[in-house]
Amino acid sequence: MNLAHVIRYLPRLLKIVVLVLFLALSPRGFSDNICESCRRDSRKVVSLSSYDGSFQRNICHHCIDNAPQCFVCMLPALKGSKTYDDNRLFCDRDFQAAIFAYEEMDRLAYQTTVDLNRAFWRFKMNFAISNVTVSLVSSATLYDLLELRFNPQQASIVGLTMTKCFDAEDKEIKLSERSKQPAGTQLRYQHDIYVANGFPEIKIKSTIAHELAHVWIHENLPFERANAIDRDTVEGFCELVAYQLMEHENAAHVRTSIRKNLYTVGQQNILIEVESGYGFNRILQWLYKGTNRRLQSADLIRQISDSPLPKQTSAVKPAVPMVQPATQTNAQPSELVAEAPQPQPASRPTTVILKGIFFGKNSSALINDLTLSEGEEQQLKLAEGFLGIKCLEIKQSSVILAVNGETKEFFVGRAPVDVVNGESK
Ligand SMILES: [Zn+2]
Ligand SMILES: [Zn+2]
Repeated sequence: MNLAHVIRYLPRLLKIVVLVLFLALSPRGFSDNICESCRRDSRKVVSLSSYDGSFQRNICHHCIDNAPQCFVCMLPALKGSKTYDDNRLFCDRDFQAAIFAYEEMDRLAYQTTVDLNRAFWRFKMNFAISNVTVSLVSSATLYDLLELRFNPQQASIVGLTMTKCFDAEDKEIKLSERSKQPAGTQLRYQHDIYVANGFPEIKIKSTIAHELAHVWIHENLPFERANAIDRDTVEGFCELVAYQLMEHENAAHVRTSIRKNLYTVGQQNILIEVESGYGFNRILQWLYKGTNRRLQSADLIRQISDSPLPKQTSAVKPAVPMVQPATQTNAQPSELVAEAPQPQPASRPTTVILKGIFFGKNSSALINDLTLSEGEEQQLKLAEGFLGIKCLEIKQSSVILAVNGETKEFFVGRAPVDVVNGESK
């Protein structure tokens, strides 16, 4: 190699020298083990999912244990995180996407109402807007309005509706005392909705939808019924309304976060399940006419008659905040439901009984007091104890179940038959 050659190859040589130098300087060369919170190289990083499941980050164990969580994605966020005026912490990504002040809040509220009315017109639901105000506020302000102590690391309340009710003489009355008004009294309402800032627009829209569902309940359910329904179920219903709207918006990640919300103790997931199996109308019927306060999916089906909806009337309940969970959890809805007091049946059945089939896009079968869809496995409570059953196939007039390792075909009102090699015997 003569001098001319060296000069000719100098640029490439330089590149190689720079690369070798870089490799020598970084402790372990190129590594996948950079923690995306502290940005340090770590021996062990774990891939964690954001709260709404829309992205993943590699996080080291030290950050998992010690770093503060981002208000939105709930992942540990150390380097590059930003703190808002009320001390909520945001990772870089979520801070960029966050809306803190919005001049177009009125337009967004109006658009949400229009979209809700479009999504629910088939159910004759009319979402009010003329007597509603919607404001975007900090989480600290939201907690002040609720007279709750604010902790920026646990600011799980994201929306609030304050409803005032006025009698015929325009005197303010308590929502819980509406039923004391003489029949036929025209009541007037004013609803003030407050939504936490710091989220992207679509999530703010989902919160507005949830709060507008509270408004709908106040103005449409019979007073007594609205008072009687369990608070978790009311929250679950409002989450369902937001969930449905987010389907129209194609916002899968907002839907994921709604499913994960622990605030309603799993009620939203029962409602989501019931809606996909039996339709929204069934839920409305239960809201209007049901006799139990809380939902167990099987109860719902048993209780709902096919009678038409009653005429819409006016009705109640104190303002209720909407919450996103303070901590991440992988708890399944079934675990959550188990926490709710389950009414004990008078006497337990001794055998597996197929009580009904809901055949359609999302078929499900009512077996004893359980609702199962295809592929689902559950423990059935029988007189002698628990029996594991798995739903293999739902047909129009029969259901194939694996019971204790045996495959059987069940019919409504008929004894089951064994299935051998896929054929009923
Ligand atoms: Zn770290
Ligand atoms: Zn984040």
